[in-house]
Amino acid sequence: MKKVMVIYGTRPEAIKVAPLILALREDPDFEPIAVSTGQHKEMLEQVHKVFNFRPDYDLAVFEQGQSLNKLAGKVFLALDKLFAEVHPDLVLVQGDTTTVSVAAQAAFYAQIPVAHLEAGLRSGDIHSPFPEEANRRIATQVSELHLAPSQSSVDNLLREGIDPEKIALTGNTVIDALIMASKLELKYQDPHLERIMNSEVPMVLVTCHRRENWHKLEQIGLALRELAETYPAMQFLFPVHGNPMLRQALVPHIEHCENVYVCEPLPYEFFAAALKKAHIVLSDSGGVQEEAPALKTPVLCMRNSTERPSAVQAGGVKLVGTDKDFIVSSFRELIDDPAVYLSMTTGANPYGDGTAAIKSIEAIKSLLEIG
Ligand code: UDP
Repeated sequence: MKKVMVIYGTRPEAIKVAPLILALREDPDFEPIAVSTGQHKEMLEQVHKVFNFRPDYDLAVFEQGQSLNKLAGKVFLALDKLFAEVHPDLVLVQGDTTTVSVAAQAAFYAQIPVAHLEAGLRSGDIHSPFPEEANRRIATQVSELHLAPSQSSVDNLLREGIDPEKIALTGNTVIDALIMASKLELKYQDPHLERIMNSEVPMVLVTCHRRENWHKLEQIGLALRELAETYPAMQFLFPVHGNPMLRQALVPHIEHCENVYVCEPLPYEFFAAALKKAHIVLSDSGGVQEEAPALKTPVLCMRNSTERPSAVQAGGVKLVGTDKDFIVSSFRELIDDPAVYLSMTTGANPYGDGTAAIKSIEAIKSLLEIG
């Protein structure tokens, strides 16, 4: 049995590695070892519960307000010790957080092959998104296997001179996760959320968390307020990211609006259901740009650029930046012009058919010369 150490630290990473961990568990050739760095503590717990797995090791490096360098230092030291104890045959990382770049480098220094899930995303600007674009490129440099979610990611890797033999086009495991979550029964603990979800009133789902948007939070807050006041017959649902700074900066702008419900981060199966029900999603999230088009829900993405151009090209995602007036006018256009709305709900889903975990395992077997 080959030991595959899957290292993750944030909510989106946990969601995207979950289908792979579950599939590795079912495969007699593998012993999956789940390692959480605990970068997003409470939100990770939600994901573990939904997908019914626990980390075998929790490095517990989380500390409120710590610098990226402090986080990186702790992850390096903890993994150095863990690699010496466990001797994995392969380290797998997903995405582009600090956990990913550090874990990939740590494995490289320990001469353990690295597989990078969701490889090849590029914005083209090393400073944006910060620090994710740099993290992705670092992970690419030290990886032996690049599991690319879309053809545009494959093309990015080829352009950078990565050996085509080391690239596998898998689709994105987030679609696998979405399919799994959609089969779960929803037992509401929150009666207000249950009312919103069962109501005929059109719902707008909002998320906002990106570090490069932290100095734009006032514009975003003001845009949300104007939209909520302009469309009193719509219900806005805003699960606020676990970072308390975001809550402090955004919530005061909208807390007086009766049609805005601000709540804690939703467990994944509830969020997936809200994504499906939503009339429009307003978000700066990466994962949401992949999930919402698969559910035919239009996304107004509050960013100026994206490393997920396939979703924009397919029509399901529109970049609206972080300027209040542009966010509001883009939203208005979507409500006022049915043809624009239709054009955002009929495109293809560029991120696969829910078989990304299986395809990733096939590529890992080939790398480790199994079978
Ligand atoms: N998500 C969730 N609950 C929420 C908000 C988001 O489970 O209340 C999920 C969402 O479906 C997606 C992931 O979290 O899979 C996205 O996380 P986030 O936006 O924090 O990170 P990003 O994808 O931008 O890296």
